[in-house]
Amino acid sequence: MEDKMMIIDPHVHMTSRTTDDYEAMAAAGVVAVIEPSFWLGQPRTQVGSFQDYFSSLVGWERFRASQFGIQHYCTIGLNSKEANNEALAEEVIELLPLYLHKENVVAVGEIGYDDQTPAEDKYFRMQLEMAKELDMVVQVHTPHRDKKAGTLKSMEVCLEHGLDPGKVVIDHNNEETVRDVLDRGFIAAFTIYPKTKMGNERMVEVVRKFGSDNIIVDSSADWGVSDPLAVPKTASLMLKRGIAKEDVHKTCYQNALDVFSYNGKMKEEDWLNPKGINQAQLYNDNSVLRGQEPRIDADQIK
Ligand SMILES: [Zn+2]
Repeated sequence: MEDKMMIIDPHVHMTSRTTDDYEAMAAAGVVAVIEPSFWLGQPRTQVGSFQDYFSSLVGWERFRASQFGIQHYCTIGLNSKEANNEALAEEVIELLPLYLHKENVVAVGEIGYDDQTPAEDKYFRMQLEMAKELDMVVQVHTPHRDKKAGTLKSMEVCLEHGLDPGKVVIDHNNEETVRDVLDRGFIAAFTIYPKTKMGNERMVEVVRKFGSDNIIVDSSADWGVSDPLAVPKTASLMLKRGIAKEDVHKTCYQNALDVFSYNGKMKEEDWLNPKGINQAQLYNDNSVLRGQEPRIDADQIK
């Protein structure tokens, strides 16, 4: 237990995952997760659906994670895909300040471009202004199509709006984009996909080539084919392939903590001095149990 490496997955959509995933992640060393707000696979038709989703990210999901010994934080924003419904987008934008101030919200995100439409551009910029005003970190989703141009444009726009690149995490990088991101002083996050795109064998080579400064590994696991253990698996593959432990620690834990702890809401003490798991606890009268014995750690009173 003592020398098990601590892992942070700074991009994972736990709402779409099961309690088995939480258990497996905790067993693999994941101590904290960040859940970006995103689209749900099907477009929402009314602002109330966004409101309930945001509320679950700051409420129920955070509670659910705690029941498995994992600290849960989130990022709040209007995703690029749904920015294209402008009437709805206007209403969602109005809602954001209410949630950006909540206890476990560590950044504005995930925002950026999908198809790089004028509406996406408009709401991306609007949210960058919001982040600047609130002095918050930004988590940027880069497009999967036309990735290189979309990544460059995302960074240009951030700089144009006067954001500090050191407070902007550019996600879903690959070997084609990483150099540009690091050279401009942004944080480069890599999503490890189990079957296609960025696999963890490739990630090992990225760290070997570019080092561990300003590089973050995440799973982006969601409702699609994805792996919530991508970060711990990549960490162990890196060690196996001779990457120094220090570099693994930075890319799979420390760099994410450094940037996302900026507004003081995500703190290492949260998991270094755990209160213990008490599954007898309820959230609005609901528990994660289905009639089984709750797990209650004996040492929870500290
Ligand atoms: Zn995502």
